[in-house]
Amino acid sequence: MKIAFITDDTSLKIPPVNTEIGVLSLKEAEIEKIADYEAIILDARKIEEAKIILNSIRQSNIESVALKPVFLYNPGETENIELESLADRKTDLGRIAELVTNAESILKSISTLTEFKTEIFEIAVMLKILRFLYTRERKLTPLILPSSRYGYIYPILSSQFPDTEDFRIFEILSLMEQQGFLLGKFFDRVHLCNKCHSAFLNFREICPSCRSSNLSVENVIHHFPCGYVSPESKFTYGDQLICPKCNKILRHIGMDYEKPSSIFKCHSCQETFQEPLVECFCFHCKTVSPVEQKITRDIKSYELTPTGKNCAIYGIRFSLADFLKDKFDLVEYNDFKRMLTFENERKKRYKRESSIGFFQITNSQEIYMLIGERKNELAMEIARIIKENFRGSDVITALNESTFLILLPETTTENSKIVLGRVKTNIENLLRSNFHIPGKTFVPQISVNIVPVNESSLNNLFPE
Ligand SMILES: [Zn+2]
Ligand SMILES: [Zn+2]
Ligand SMILES: [Zn+2]
Repeated sequence: MKIAFITDDTSLKIPPVNTEIGVLSLKEAEIEKIADYEAIILDARKIEEAKIILNSIRQSNIESVALKPVFLYNPGETENIELESLADRKTDLGRIAELVTNAESILKSISTLTEFKTEIFEIAVMLKILRFLYTRERKLTPLILPSSRYGYIYPILSSQFPDTEDFRIFEILSLMEQQGFLLGKFFDRVHLCNKCHSAFLNFREICPSCRSSNLSVENVIHHFPCGYVSPESKFTYGDQLICPKCNKILRHIGMDYEKPSSIFKCHSCQETFQEPLVECFCFHCKTVSPVEQKITRDIKSYELTPTGKNCAIYGIRFSLADFLKDKFDLVEYNDFKRMLTFENERKKRYKRESSIGFFQITNSQEIYMLIGERKNELAMEIARIIKENFRGSDVITALNESTFLILLPETTTENSKIVLGRVKTNIENLLRSNFHIPGKTFVPQISVNIVPVNESSLNNLFPE
């Protein structure tokens, strides 16, 4: 096995082992060089430099680099959770043989993965996560990291996004859970700023009239013999409690008096009140907002499901047809062809014109990703547009994951074109208005065609 030891420490003596170990300085550790080695030992004593290198390995678009076994050389035992979450294990120079066995089993697992290419960043990220977990037989457990925006990070997943886009971690996780790739288990509940999603919040009680947080709270006393109710301070004389109304000494709580509630006092406007307001101050963006407006998010730990393992090995494909299928009645393609033949015979006999058309969403994978959690909502809308525009006698089938064929009996090509044109425009508008991702312009790509029904209409429909 060829191992790269990335370190600037020239004084380290590598014991003789049955393994080729090449030493690279931190500066030399570029992806192209690292790619030549089967495993990496990274000197983790310079934490910031090591973090940059390990992040660039895990973010690499080259799969064999991103999944490479990486071990941390760190005899000082300085803990760094971010670094450790991206690495396989800690090691020292006396344990090279153990490291080789470990790396071999990871590499063997990597060798079983089918090559899968995707242009879509989110799918690439999901696949990377699935493959990382699969080849390491790991769970995806959130780790506490106070310096991170959410207070938690997910190993490897968090490193795939720039800080400004890290909210997408949750979109990806919930999509992966919805798709059945991951099984989520409740771990913790966090409260986040509604503006910047930071978990670094101060919940504070404030005065309902002047909104100052300079409050004090004291108990209210109810004196049973005379029925007088007042804040405790009105009863306090030295270390005794004396009723200001009847001048009796209060002796036994529960017997001659009780403390039924507490009362707040504002030291800014002197107002007293029973229920203060609660507001939420964000240390990150300094926004002050009512407590009800904060975002509550469940943090889960995840494990791979059998579907997730399957996708890890063979790749991820989403089907638009699948997600529309249960929203409206699609007929099987073979039945569709039979109906087409029948319609052609009928047409010849009765001399009526019928049409067949298709619409294809060419960037359906991208749409699927962008839709994320709202896919059901959007599928309903798409189904509604289709139902509104086609008649009950029209027949729809899915030719593949994003191409739909429609048979319109007794409809001229002209009229069918109008209908299909309207469906296209409506779906495009719907998709456009649903995607507002900062920095991304989204253009739905829908192509349509209509031809008259005859013996060769299926061929005419897809010229080329
Ligand atoms: Zn009294
Ligand atoms: Zn006040
Ligand atoms: Zn904020």
